[in-house]
Amino acid sequence: MDGQQAFGPAEAADMLARRVNGVPLIPLLFFAVAGLMALVLGLRGRKIDDHPICRKCRFDLVGVWPGAEKCPECGAEIADARARRVGNRRRSGRLITVGAVLAAIGGVPLATLVLSVLIGPAANPYKPVWLLVTEARYSGPGVATAAMGELGSRITKKKLDRVTVSKLIAEGLARQADVQAPWLPGWGDFIMAAWNGGFAGNADLAAYIRGGVQFEAVVRERARVDEPTALKIVGRSSRLSKSADIWIAVNFDVIRLGDVEQHDAGTAYIRADTMNAGGFGTGFGSPTQTGPAAWSVSWTVRLMAGPPTGGMMAPSSIAEWKEERSGTITVVGADEPMIEVFRDDSLAEQLCGLIESPRVSIDSGRTFSVGSGEPGPEPPPTVTLLFTITEPFPIDAGFDVILAWQVAGQRVEARAGTLAIEAGTKGRIVRSCGALADGQVLPREMAAIGLILRPSFRAAESNGDIRRGWVGPDLLFSEAVVDDERERNTWRDRY
Ligand SMILES: [Zn+2]
Repeated sequence: MDGQQAFGPAEAADMLARRVNGVPLIPLLFFAVAGLMALVLGLRGRKIDDHPICRKCRFDLVGVWPGAEKCPECGAEIADARARRVGNRRRSGRLITVGAVLAAIGGVPLATLVLSVLIGPAANPYKPVWLLVTEARYSGPGVATAAMGELGSRITKKKLDRVTVSKLIAEGLARQADVQAPWLPGWGDFIMAAWNGGFAGNADLAAYIRGGVQFEAVVRERARVDEPTALKIVGRSSRLSKSADIWIAVNFDVIRLGDVEQHDAGTAYIRADTMNAGGFGTGFGSPTQTGPAAWSVSWTVRLMAGPPTGGMMAPSSIAEWKEERSGTITVVGADEPMIEVFRDDSLAEQLCGLIESPRVSIDSGRTFSVGSGEPGPEPPPTVTLLFTITEPFPIDAGFDVILAWQVAGQRVEARAGTLAIEAGTKGRIVRSCGALADGQVLPREMAAIGLILRPSFRAAESNGDIRRGWVGPDLLFSEAVVDDERERNTWRDRY
């Protein structure tokens, strides 16, 4: 079991150095050892005289030895010093009692701990609260999560008292606030269970949400004049429950770009667990009404968070707060690239060689008109590009996808969306490129088609992760295989 492996010697040492539900473990160990020593001393007894004693049968040999060779009681040889002891002893009932009590105080919790680690989470329903709390605090993530889960389910079953729940909520919030320590989402699950069970107030929940939501607001590095600044929210390993149904409304309250101030630039609704997962982006922005230059940009983000209300995503306003963020943005002219562009014509041949067996799949979607039983007008065909990149693609690049074919001896070209390939991409690629531009329609029954990948910084920009894109000559594929799905879909849609 995962959890058991997670509890190693390091965790055991760590556990010993700390406390069990307020009781330090070192004293427990001390009690256990001191108790055992007292028990041994008590059982051995205190010397009450200096008579010689037969070691075998404990017969008092006073007046017998020295003189006799054998014990008159059991017949053992007593000439050898090792066969005799000195002094009668009396057991100490008081020492035995004190020893047993001390050993029990220290030993029983320790033994239970060791036993629970050996048994693992299977026995959780039968464990006392202090033991579960100890596991939640000091065990590896597997055992700790299982223990917090059991504690949470005891709230639901009304088997935990309010004082204990309040203490654990306070501890959970303190752990959440300690950003140096790893966060165990199980504590968040517990706080949510407490709130759902009426054991935690809205103030507790608000503190938990505020403490858990961690994000960065990122503005893209460049924007064209009159295009949005595209603010993005990026969650940063938020310290919340993994499963909590908490929604966060992130409102771009004020965006300041140079002298221009924009209010209420939009709201994003984010489920807290999505944030927990690491990152998400939502484009938001005010048009850049400032001229080409580098500008400082700052914004006030208003957050509202809580369990969802009647609406799907709108959170109840359990927690409300504002955060300020700032950055810089370079505004460029309308025709300039927003990413860094590098031109290297010599790469074209290599890139072309990496793209293997391109196919063009053409699909016109649904063509059936409801009611009439007749196929409807054919919508512009959409193009999906399929190919294999044989080696990791060496650079970031974006392309306009252009199809070329012959009609009555005339060459026709039509653009079908864009394709961005990040450096390192390898293997089978399937990319939908959208419909052919200008409502152009491909003739049917074409087995092969010319495919042109025309480097485009705008296509590269459309992939938000590309910061530096390649431009160079067109990549030409004279005969891409055509899979024409139009007939099939027309047939399928008729039934
Ligand atoms: Zn004897």
